[in-house]
Formats: sequence, structure tokens, C-alpha cells
Amino acid sequence: MKIPSIRLLGLFVALSAVPLFAQPNPAWLVHDRERPLPPVVDPGTASTQDQPGRPPSDAVVLFDGKELSNWVAMDGSPTKWVIRDGALECVPGSGYVRSLQGFGDCQLHLEWAAPTKVEGSSQGRGNSGVFFGLGRYEIQVLDSYQNNTYADGSAASYYGEYPPLANACRPPGQWQTYDMIWTAPRFDAEGKLLSKARLTVIHNGVVVQNNIELERPNAGRWFDPLPYKAHPQRLPIAFQDHGNPVRYRNIWVRELGAHRHPAFVLPDTLLDTYAGNYGKPGSWNSAKIRRLPDGQLLLSLGTSEVVLTAASPTHFHGQVTDVQVKFDFSGDKKKALVTVGEDFARAMVLEREAQ
Ligand code: MG
Repeated sequence: MKIPSIRLLGLFVALSAVPLFAQPNPAWLVHDRERPLPPVVDPGTASTQDQPGRPPSDAVVLFDGKELSNWVAMDGSPTKWVIRDGALECVPGSGYVRSLQGFGDCQLHLEWAAPTKVEGSSQGRGNSGVFFGLGRYEIQVLDSYQNNTYADGSAASYYGEYPPLANACRPPGQWQTYDMIWTAPRFDAEGKLLSKARLTVIHNGVVVQNNIELERPNAGRWFDPLPYKAHPQRLPIAFQDHGNPVRYRNIWVRELGAHRHPAFVLPDTLLDTYAGNYGKPGSWNSAKIRRLPDGQLLLSLGTSEVVLTAASPTHFHGQVTDVQVKFDFSGDKKKALVTVGEDFARAMVLEREAQ
């Protein structure tokens, strides 16, 4: 028998090895022609110091230099931050600013600039911060250019836990980019932590946080931060007011993972107007609505309770089941249309009790 050459033997081993590679998704064969192709995305253009770039075609643009409609104060009231020369600028003392829309796992791009005029030192210089999870998880924004401070408080640190792998800061006044990949923490129905948040940060093109696992939320308490506590997966992005007029521009998000509806965190004052008893109390066609933290509503139908998230200022969806509530407060009656699944026989228009 002729002994095959080492080369042929190698090819044979390689080919016979192919089926042994398990596909991450077992529904598809290796090189399966039936497998859907990835969606086409126009990647946009990069920014220069003089000109912000163009976001990818599938991004949610949160700030394009012209208007503030996506930004509010933390309680949902109008923000006091201002637009100056195409940038969103912190007005010291005005509080944090947040997006109206919430995001779960996502890619976030933003550009920031510390004030050109250098004032203060250490944490007092060009301090702001980027938060995921409605103010819970802060990535530091700081003028760390020739400005020493503690390592885990430097620019692009996950504040108080992870210093950046490098100091890639540009001089104050220059535009700097943060590109981040955020994986939200997961909690079970009882609120138990299933997996911690993960984060990658690229600062001016330099990887400075490499898929770190966040030990805990880092906001709120300086010495002994609180442990993880269950919260909705999709929550707004916020920027810190730390008393310095830090500027932001070209802010966009690409949400990772499929979602049927956007998730907004509306102003508490608006959500409070929806709270109350609807229909005839005690009867089958009655409902109760109350406000929960993080912009959610709780719908009670008999003994069933459904957590609702806003897809628009008047339209809410159940988080885990197909229940919808549309509020119509336009006439003299305050009405809620409650739809359970596709069973329109169970769609109810309920009037809210006078309060
Ligand atoms: Mg900060």
C-alpha cells in the first residue's frame, strides 16, 4: 500500500476535522448557504478635530450638534445643559443629563473635550463621566493630560475599580473619542444577579478597558459602593455634572440584540399622571396602574401583574408578555386601552377614576 504523503495526510485530517467543529449556533452547518447574511450597514465616517464624523447608518443618533430632544435631566424634566458651537456643554450646578431612550447591550460612541483653559488639578480638572444604567455605572471623563490623580479615577477608568490600561488623553480643548461596548448585567425574576456587567472602552483608538467584568455599580457612594441591585436591562445613558464645563458631541448608540420596541424612561411627572384606578373597581374590567422606579409602570389586572415599559409617551408594552396599554388623556375623560395578546375581545377601554 502506498503511504500518502504527509501533505495529503494533513489535508485529509483537516477535511475530516471540519464536522468536528461545533457551530456556535447548531441550527446552521459550517458555511451554510441558507444562513441569513448580516445586515448591511454604512459605517459612516471618522471625525476630525474640526468636524464630527457621520454615524453608522443603523445607529440611534442621540446628539447631532443641533438639538436636545433626546436629553433630559435625571427626573425627566428639561435639562439645563446647553448647546454651544455644536456641542452639548455641561452647565456647572445644573445636574446630570440623560438620554430619554434606554439601551441594553450596546455600542456607544461619543466625543468629549475638557475646557481649553486649564483650571484646577487632579479630580478638579475637566471632570465629568459617562454612565450606563441610569446613573449606576460610571466611566470617568477627566482631563488626565499631564494631570496626575489616583489611577482608578483617571480618564477612561471604570471609576474606583479599573484604571485604564493606558493614558491616551489628548490635551485639554481637543476632541477625544470614547468607543464603548456595554453588556448589561442580568437578573432573574426574583432580582438575583445572574451575570455582572461587562465593558470595553477604546479611548482615541487605544484599547483601555478590555471586556472587564464590573464588580459592582460605582455611583452614589464614594467609600463603600452598593452591591448590584436588580434593574431593567435597558436604561438611559447619562453624563455627569462635576462642576466643569465639559463638552460632548457626535453621540450615537447601536443597540446589540433584537428588540421589538424602543424603551424610553419618561419623566416621573408624566408617569404619575397615568397612575390610578381604571374601570369599575372590583369588576373583571378594571385595572390599576402605579409607577415603579426606572421609568416603569406596574399594571394590575385582577391578581396578575405586568411590568410595562414605554415605547412612546403614551404607548406601553409588557416586558415579558404581550400586553399593551395606550393612554388617551386628550378628551375630558382619562382613558387607557388595555390589550392582552391578540385577543381583541379582551381589549378594554377603561376610564380612570377621578382623583
Ligand atoms: Mg466623574
